[in-house]
Amino acid sequence: MSHLIQILPDHIANQIAAGEVIQRPASVVKELVENSIDAGATRIDVIIKDAGKTLIQIIDNGSGMTLEDAKLCFARHATSKVRKADDLFALTTKGFRGEALASIAAIAHVTLNTKKVDSPTGTSVQIEGSEIKNCEETVCSDGTSFEVKNLFFNVPARRNFLKSSDVEFKHIKDEFERIVLAHPNVHFSLVHNGTEIYNLHNAVLRKRIIDLIGDRQNERLVPIEESTDIVQIKGYVVKPEFAKKTRGDQFLFVNDRFFKDGYFNHAINKAFEGMVQPKHHPGYYLYFEIDPSKIDVNVHPTKTEIKFEEDRLIYAILVSSIRQALGKYNIAPTLDFERETSFDIPAEMRKQTPVEPTIAVNPDYNPFKTASSASSKGYTSSGMSKAIQSEGFGSASYDSKDWQNFYSIEEENEEEINSSAIDFKDETPSIGQLIIKSPYIIAQIEDELIVINGKRAFERITYDKMMQEFIQHPLNSQALLFPIEKELSSTEIELWNQNKELLQRIGFEGKTKNDQLFLAAVPSVLQEEGIHQCIDSILETLQHKDLDKSDITHNFVQSIAYNASQKKDLLSIKENVIELIDQLLKSEENQWTPNGKKIIVPFDFNRITKEF
Ligand code: ADP
Ligand code: MG
Repeated sequence: MSHLIQILPDHIANQIAAGEVIQRPASVVKELVENSIDAGATRIDVIIKDAGKTLIQIIDNGSGMTLEDAKLCFARHATSKVRKADDLFALTTKGFRGEALASIAAIAHVTLNTKKVDSPTGTSVQIEGSEIKNCEETVCSDGTSFEVKNLFFNVPARRNFLKSSDVEFKHIKDEFERIVLAHPNVHFSLVHNGTEIYNLHNAVLRKRIIDLIGDRQNERLVPIEESTDIVQIKGYVVKPEFAKKTRGDQFLFVNDRFFKDGYFNHAINKAFEGMVQPKHHPGYYLYFEIDPSKIDVNVHPTKTEIKFEEDRLIYAILVSSIRQALGKYNIAPTLDFERETSFDIPAEMRKQTPVEPTIAVNPDYNPFKTASSASSKGYTSSGMSKAIQSEGFGSASYDSKDWQNFYSIEEENEEEINSSAIDFKDETPSIGQLIIKSPYIIAQIEDELIVINGKRAFERITYDKMMQEFIQHPLNSQALLFPIEKELSSTEIELWNQNKELLQRIGFEGKTKNDQLFLAAVPSVLQEEGIHQCIDSILETLQHKDLDKSDITHNFVQSIAYNASQKKDLLSIKENVIELIDQLLKSEENQWTPNGKKIIVPFDFNRITKEF
């Protein structure tokens, strides 16, 4: 009987291996950019067409390759980074498996142009489905350029499996952001369909972060710095009051490599305990430096999971260093009307002289005790944080053993959480002097002065009203004289149709045809100029599949309330402003917008006195 077992030919083996490493265009971007970094590039340009379905090109000014290496680099297990098994425990490069180029070449049309600085000419190699089509000397600049076209041309199942261009490009952007945050010393650019999305000059870390997330965020970052024998931690956390409802701003790096880790994420949440609002996630950009022999990056083919030898100790160090940094930072308000961030003074709106918030750090706190003993007992906070704690915000105490259940713990505690409404002595406090400088209102309430963000106040009131109505009947909508047309992607059209009923309940009536949405009626609180934005944010909400129905409703109503509050003339009539303040003071949650933004801060005379 003839034997059954055969050795797969290389091109098939490569195609199978490619499935592991290359799941979508973003994986190609990641692998190629990482190779450029390993090659010592100081400038890397990423050019994308049609979310990578048509073209992915990466150009670097790194070491370049010789003609022999240029041919060899596409072979399976071809790597210049690991020579012996021990090297695996002392990795300082991103790549080491020697799989990426072989995988990419197996499932796409690739052109490589590369030249070493000291060589007069370069090399050009064309390879399609693992087969070298051409290899010749060429004239090109120093460094390396990879052009990847027709991705998955020979794996139709994969190609059909790709999501819409918006989704695929979002993945590319995510990968790009993770890499640029890990390498602030490299100049990166990203161009999509001819439009420059990023051009990030080399910079110090803080500058790189704000180049990516916006200047406005600068003041929100709190530096973290901790050096121990086990690990060095540096980076930034975002001030607790700017925690977001999404987890988008959470970045962990170890030895300049992005990774995900539920256990450390839990440590960070623990450090923020009592300071962020329920269902909000603190933002962080944290960089660990650790002896490569103490971690194992070999766990996952795409290497976003990493095993740490001393994870429990790192957990404790992480909690303590973040708490100390949060305790140290001084929340310094300035009275500058132009800047939104200037009103991030924690407000304790009681009938007493406002107290400047302080956070006390327990000097006896020992991060090297086991993680479970690193409880929050030795750590007290006063001022606003205490007020929030006593009201139940974030009162959940997580046991570090339970970190896997972190998400479910968060849900369970939701019911215990009350709002922290401002409580004036009188039932109906009298409103005195008003100074309006849109969007801010300085108001005298009895004998206190407070500063109100008028737009946010309107958002809160509108949200409360709509939520109350929503429970009883569909929300009021107004028919449009001329239907509004809006172009949507096919995914968005699908999402719209799937959620038609809910959308109708909140006041949107619309029909779809091909890639157009024709809106016939919208919620009556919306002004024309807010409609497009509102629909965009509703569609964005729908793309997050992990939201449950009540989250979706909350997000919808919140988008409507937010967009309704963006009216230009919102605060132009004094009577309306008085009515607004009156309603705000009656609201049970008058300190925060539904999205967790601050609405009221006390006008702090102590601080003014200090200014003189
Ligand atoms: P790995 O990165 O795991 O070594 P790859 O398949 O990604 O495997 O790359 C194979 C080899 O090709 C690398 O080890 C490196 O020597 C070479 N190489 C890849 N990209 C570049 C580049 N941009 N510049 C210089 N050399 C490169
Ligand atoms: Mg590589």
